[in-house]
Amino acid sequence: MIKRKKLKKKPIIFMLIILLAIGVGTYYISTSYNDIEEYQVDNLSIQHQFLTVNPYSRSGKTLPRVNGIVIHYTANPGSTAQNNRDYFENLKDTKTTSASSHFIIGLNGEVIQCIPLNEVAYASNNRNRDTIAIECCHPDESGQFNEETYQSLQILVRSLMNTYHLTSNDVIRHYDITGKICPKYFVDHEDKWQEFLNTL
Ligand SMILES: [Zn+2]
Repeated sequence: MIKRKKLKKKPIIFMLIILLAIGVGTYYISTSYNDIEEYQVDNLSIQHQFLTVNPYSRSGKTLPRVNGIVIHYTANPGSTAQNNRDYFENLKDTKTTSASSHFIIGLNGEVIQCIPLNEVAYASNNRNRDTIAIECCHPDESGQFNEETYQSLQILVRSLMNTYHLTSNDVIRHYDITGKICPKYFVDHEDKWQEFLNTL
């Protein structure tokens, strides 16, 4: 009797494990799978000015999954979102370096999207392959974002977290990947970085 019961139970347990595995797999694919090009957010005006496809700033390579959001600063005090977008665009001619980001947030809180979200940007080294990059403008050498930029960053990051089912643990600084002092103010002031994460 005991033996027969065991034999009957085993296939059921096996099937349950298979179903669980399928469920977890489906959840993983559906939450991180990425096919978004132009991104829109309520209460935020995002201009879509996609770069020309070129090897220096928009490779056109697919970004199949989004596992994180990386925050940067432009390191160019007083420059506008448009200036930085045009700098990325001009790299196709100047060929001086490889650089770009999905979004640039300007000094008036304006947002320009330069790269479709289903393509990689050249901003975050070995995390280009699975993250969204956001560059932020800043008025001076301290790298601190003004109130307008900060507020747009909060709205944009919250929205992306929601879209890609991420938590604040998935929001990182360029510094956390390579040790580069970027975004400078949030590297110099760890407490302000934690404060920002706590508002998300
Ligand atoms: Zn950076």
